[in-house]
Amino acid sequence: MRLHYLLLLPVCAFLNVQAQTQPWQGKFEPIDNMIAPPNAYRTASGAPGREYWQQRADYKIKASIDEKTNVLSGEETITYHNNSPDDLSYLWLQLEQNVNKKGNPDFGDARGGVSDGMNSRQMQFLTRAIDFPAGYSIKYIKDASGNMLKALVNNTMMKVILNTPLKSGESLTFSLGWSYPITDRSMFSLSREGYEYFPTDDNTIYLIAHWFPRMAVYNDTEGWQNQQFRRLGEFALEFGDYDVEITVPEDHIVAATGELQNSESVLTKTQRQRLDQAKKSFDKPVLIITQEEAAANKRNKSSKTKTWKFHAENVRDFAFASSRKFIWDAQAVKLPTNTVMAMSYFPEEGLPVWAEESTKAIKNALEVYSEATFDYPYPVAISVNTSNIGMEFPMISFNGGRPKDGEMSDRAKQGMIGTIVHEVGHNWFPMIVSSDERKWMWMDEGLNTFIHQRTVEERYPEFSYTTPKSIVPFMSGDKNILRPIMTTSDNELLTQFGNNFYQKPTVGLQMLRESIIGKELFDQAFKEYANRWKYKHPNPGDLFRTLEDATATDLDWFFRGWFFTVDHVDMELSNVKWYKVFEENLNIEDQQKKTSVKIEGKNSAENPQDFSNGPEVITMTDTPDNAYGGFLSRLDETEMRKQLHNKNIYEVTIKNVGGLVMPVTIEWMYTDGTTEIEKLPADIWRLNEYEVTKTFLKDKEVSKVNLDPNFEFADTDATNNSFPKTESQSDFDRFKEKSKK
Ligand SMILES: [Zn+2]
Repeated sequence: MRLHYLLLLPVCAFLNVQAQTQPWQGKFEPIDNMIAPPNAYRTASGAPGREYWQQRADYKIKASIDEKTNVLSGEETITYHNNSPDDLSYLWLQLEQNVNKKGNPDFGDARGGVSDGMNSRQMQFLTRAIDFPAGYSIKYIKDASGNMLKALVNNTMMKVILNTPLKSGESLTFSLGWSYPITDRSMFSLSREGYEYFPTDDNTIYLIAHWFPRMAVYNDTEGWQNQQFRRLGEFALEFGDYDVEITVPEDHIVAATGELQNSESVLTKTQRQRLDQAKKSFDKPVLIITQEEAAANKRNKSSKTKTWKFHAENVRDFAFASSRKFIWDAQAVKLPTNTVMAMSYFPEEGLPVWAEESTKAIKNALEVYSEATFDYPYPVAISVNTSNIGMEFPMISFNGGRPKDGEMSDRAKQGMIGTIVHEVGHNWFPMIVSSDERKWMWMDEGLNTFIHQRTVEERYPEFSYTTPKSIVPFMSGDKNILRPIMTTSDNELLTQFGNNFYQKPTVGLQMLRESIIGKELFDQAFKEYANRWKYKHPNPGDLFRTLEDATATDLDWFFRGWFFTVDHVDMELSNVKWYKVFEENLNIEDQQKKTSVKIEGKNSAENPQDFSNGPEVITMTDTPDNAYGGFLSRLDETEMRKQLHNKNIYEVTIKNVGGLVMPVTIEWMYTDGTTEIEKLPADIWRLNEYEVTKTFLKDKEVSKVNLDPNFEFADTDATNNSFPKTESQSDFDRFKEKSKK
């Protein structure tokens, strides 16, 4: 189609497009050059491609804990399946226990400095004054025929050099013998595993994780995963089946990834009967081991051992807990396609809240996450009590939070329940939707916290939970220490990663769901992502692409701003002008007179601070014939004037102070006490990223205009969101309260 240039001019003038005063930043340009391009492995729509491949590793492990020395020893056989199109002449394995080894360049603690009055524990973190022989002793590595394989250790990773290359499509079986001293959790910072010693009864709880040498990921985007374990960035692992035999003192109870295979030789008849009962108990947990029975176990302290056998399918890791202190409860949870045993293990120090809340929290997480993504596919979901922090593994998590003398504050209890929900939730992200945690912490923590917060909101509405308002203090923080969400895990500060990798992505997804895409369409797209990538390795681009592809929404502006920058949202309602069309047929001279009266009001009519001057008067002229171009039909001028009679015209100017482009929600408060919400999409910023002017026609008279009245968009400064300007915070809060009703 061709248009005459001269005809275009009046159209542009009518749209009132102003040149922006600051440089164009391309905030709506595609992010194609910021994410990996699509290929045969990963499609442009964000799904695994027709040639997507993934390696696989199956494990058979026999391990034992020596309670006297706290040494864990094991022998394992790995069957590695090379599904890649490449021949491999070497393999890389993860040796995370070496992170604590002397001589590891990253051995020291992140804190680094010395200060007056620091306590001995803090000093110990810095100096490792306690001489502890951390890290693996690798006893042997040999192939299926018993030939020794050469290996080289690079800190937390080990390269196994193959005698003959492993061809594409072929499998290899090799075995290793190893041992390491289990660390005391209280003496190592950021410790996710280790033992906890209880001096009161001279007993120990073992929380055993990243304990056996495991295959590193080899994939189409990284080749061999080559980020060392530096404590913050967690794991990147392959899926496989596990047969694990764990030998522990006879009176220990073991909780582990997978299904127990030999209950008749490790559990009593009574315990087995109680377990059968629990399988049919859908409304409350059944105690498998009571407090009294745990107390008896603690006293006896058998020196004999027992071997527990577990089998797990299609998991990316295996963890377990072992102690004679455990009280154990279990109940069944019915999901549409699976019935799961939810189970909790805790010492008496966890009573009474652990008996009341832990298994219930597992159930709540299983139900809400399954609905939001896909049904929990595994047979068991376990929560084990620890002293502090929470840490997730397939089917089992170690969760901090204990009462003191049986008492727990509401806040601590909320924290504990939230931790259990969160860690059980990690079964979806990253245990099944298996992103690379060592590279992108936000991909599992952010997505998991998003559904975790939704679980809290739906199942514990009296608790506090994350909303866009929660991220405001972080977003308005010092830009010199802020990093984009798209920062790799170990490059984030310890003081910032909680907000940047957990809360900010959560709020981003909440905004997409609640205010940008809409719940129904967003939920479907999120589910699509989870289902496309379950048991696979997604990258950030796969998430971004799927959310756009499954919603027909161009979200590049959102991903660009929220994930790739440290800009924040701060919209300023810089002006609202009130007009009325002067509908009488006055001559030009009279109209000018009327206008001039307004200009002489107490406020400058150019920049009025409120509506007290009344409307400005504008005249609307009849359309001259030449403005219709070639069209012969004409407006009904009288009808037009009648329609506008008594209407209020509001011209609203909004400035983008923070930098992030976002939709704008306007709240109109009318003089009759009613309110109205109007939503403008982010697209309003496409032509001018810094300032937009919009005109609205209202029947009623407006007393006040507010932006983002329900705090949907994490606007960091609410004091510039109103016209007339809100005088004080208390006044502001008052009308917030009012507008909520
Ligand atoms: Zn987490």
